[in-house]
Amino acid sequence: MFGKYKALWGKQPSFNSSYDAVIIGGGLHGLAAAYFLARNHGMTNVAVLENKFIGFGGAGRNTAIVRANQRTQENLPLYKEALDMWPILTRELDFNLMFNNCGNLNLAHSQAAIKAMRLQVATAQFHGIDSRLIGPEECKELVPALDISDRPRYPIAGGMFHPPGGVLRHDAVVWGLAKGAAKHGVHIHQGTEVTGIGVEKGRIVSVDTNQGKIHTPRVLNAAGGYSAGISYSLLNIRLPISVLTIQAMVTQPLKPLLNHVVSSGAYHCYANQTLKGEIATGAHMDPWPNYTTQNTANYIKHQAEALTEFLPCLAGVKFMRCWSGLADMTPDMAPIIDGNDTIEGYYMNCGWGYFGFKSAAVTGKYMADFMKTGECPDILKPFNLKRYQNNRLMGETAALMSYSANN
Ligand SMILES: Cc1cc2nc3c(=O)[nH]c(=O)nc-3n(C[C@H](O)[C@H](O)[C@H](O)COP(=O)(O)OP(=O)(O)OC[C@H]3O[C@@H](n4cnc5c(N)ncnc54)[C@H](O)[C@@H]3O)c2cc1C
Repeated sequence: MFGKYKALWGKQPSFNSSYDAVIIGGGLHGLAAAYFLARNHGMTNVAVLENKFIGFGGAGRNTAIVRANQRTQENLPLYKEALDMWPILTRELDFNLMFNNCGNLNLAHSQAAIKAMRLQVATAQFHGIDSRLIGPEECKELVPALDISDRPRYPIAGGMFHPPGGVLRHDAVVWGLAKGAAKHGVHIHQGTEVTGIGVEKGRIVSVDTNQGKIHTPRVLNAAGGYSAGISYSLLNIRLPISVLTIQAMVTQPLKPLLNHVVSSGAYHCYANQTLKGEIATGAHMDPWPNYTTQNTANYIKHQAEALTEFLPCLAGVKFMRCWSGLADMTPDMAPIIDGNDTIEGYYMNCGWGYFGFKSAAVTGKYMADFMKTGECPDILKPFNLKRYQNNRLMGETAALMSYSANN
């Protein structure tokens, strides 16, 4: 029935004709919400419907960088709790998520960038987040391979160091959450595409899938790059989301040379060294909306040039693999987390762009509270859809545009 996708985390569950909640998308956000619905609220009659296989979307393609030093008052508490949660979740799931809190170093290449970072550091510190401004010499102490001379096109003027950030393994997080959710009774159906959402008298009543109809009073749209399409084509609700491709790649394995995640907004480039020794690196999104997941020669060339500008020892190192995924970008680089005034039981958690890995677990926890009670938790309220109508956009875009890379 479910084609080629096996339920490797446990027994293939039965496909029931009714569930208390249906979650569209077996990505990070869908699996996290399902896990917490079951674990924290005892709501176990829940189905996660995944068109392909779990982790097919951004969940299994991201570079797994986590940090809490966002820019805005609305984002900081969520990302702080998100970062604090990884060790807790590792224990709770009894699954090694491979959290390596190696610290993140954002490079500044101009005095304007330093000024922008100063504001961001101050806001983070106000929220009790460890983040500080450092000069070029301290950048070099942290990452001896950095070229802090005047040679690069954009010399390093300083940086923002955030010691508690780092990286995890994205597939471990997907598998850990799936295993945890399934253990608590959640049904994860792979190869199951949602093709329709039934609404009667202003309430969710069902979803249609390629495997049959399911009756349910609650639906969560957590379909990542496909969420806006689902929302519009199945419910006629327009979301301000553009879908763009992000590309990434890894080099051949090298001896240890990069102890921290290093990123540069001016070069549109970030990198960290994996436990296998590869340099994993990503950059800005493709500039045009598209649904392809292809890499481009232009991007590979850009990445090689950018990396070797500030890490010249990488010249001559070979890229071994490259891949890409879809980013559901909103105009203010903050997600859309909301219910719907006219359709009771419809929930959205999408528009994460390139921030959706680091935030997934904590958002899933609060999303579960929201779906169980119907009351949006305070921490999620700023991410409502109406902010676009009310001209209350957030300032995360400003932080990224002024200095930062896209992780
Ligand atoms: C190259 C790259 C690097 C990134 N790096 C980082 C990073 O370092 N840090 C960070 O925080 N974030 C990063 N991101 C962003 C992050 O990966 C995403 O924000 C995150 O994966 C979004 O999770 P999600 O659960 O919302 O969506 P996804 O993980 O995309 O899951 C959505 C799922 O919905 C399924 N689906 C779609 N339509 C249907 C349907 N009709 N029926 C059933 N299922 C459906 C899809 O198959 C998919 O599996 C990166 C992204 C990319 C592409």
